[in-house]
Amino acid sequence: MYIGRFAPSPSGRLHFGSLVCALGSYLVARKRQGRFLLRIEDLDRPRCSDFFTKTIIKELEILGFDYDDKPYIQSLHQDNYFDAIDLLLKNKQAYYCNCTRAKLKEKECNCNLHQETIDLNKPYSIRYQIPSTLESFFIDELQGKVENTFTKSSITLKRADNIIAYNLACVVDDILQGVTQVVRGCDLIDITTTQRALYKSLGHEPISYLHLPLIMADSEHKLSKQNHATPVLDTDTPENLLLKALKVLKVNCENIHPQMSCQKILQTAVDNFNFDSLNRKNRIFLD
Ligand SMILES: [Zn+2]
Repeated sequence: MYIGRFAPSPSGRLHFGSLVCALGSYLVARKRQGRFLLRIEDLDRPRCSDFFTKTIIKELEILGFDYDDKPYIQSLHQDNYFDAIDLLLKNKQAYYCNCTRAKLKEKECNCNLHQETIDLNKPYSIRYQIPSTLESFFIDELQGKVENTFTKSSITLKRADNIIAYNLACVVDDILQGVTQVVRGCDLIDITTTQRALYKSLGHEPISYLHLPLIMADSEHKLSKQNHATPVLDTDTPENLLLKALKVLKVNCENIHPQMSCQKILQTAVDNFNFDSLNRKNRIFLD
């Protein structure tokens, strides 16, 4: 059984890039008669809020999305991430680190080489030692062969402020929720090989990936909450927005009209959806 998910971070309202991502992951899961899950990635507490969690859930409902389970809220499942860290530490695939952020900007952490000098009374982070057996590429269902370009030797699992890092939480939950394919934006394509290695380190075979085009705000920046993308529902009707996002993904919209309900638009889009015509660009500039 195919299990897909959409996993927004509630650090702001949905923008057009998140809508394209939600829509793409929804269409792929429904076309494959799979399950579709919503996961709220709210572990970065200083940046996220319960207000935006509620808002995002409401906005997706307005846009007509439905799921096969209640939303999975990461902050309610902290134990799972700490269990994973314990396992990685036990297997010597993770290590303690006293490096400050400023130091990490200057040079790579090599605390793994001198663990005996780590002071656990000071704030410390925990890092994943990327194994030397790292794959040099993976096959993305949409983008094809993707070479690994990530060259660092470790990534953060737990920050010094005790916040669990995105890369760990995402892999732990995809395993726990039985996700069979990750559909998400191309901004995360470079870290995918490392996430696949983390899968193996946690005792699981990596799953399939499909990276959708990234909606760009300008030539260098993706549309994001950080660069103050306009909340998408403030820009047009939900029906028009779904149509616009479908066109970006290159889904056939001949028999879809903004007079239809959002549910009907989504249902018709699933019927029309064709993998071969899905937009393969990795970046899209809106006019
Ligand atoms: Zn370090």
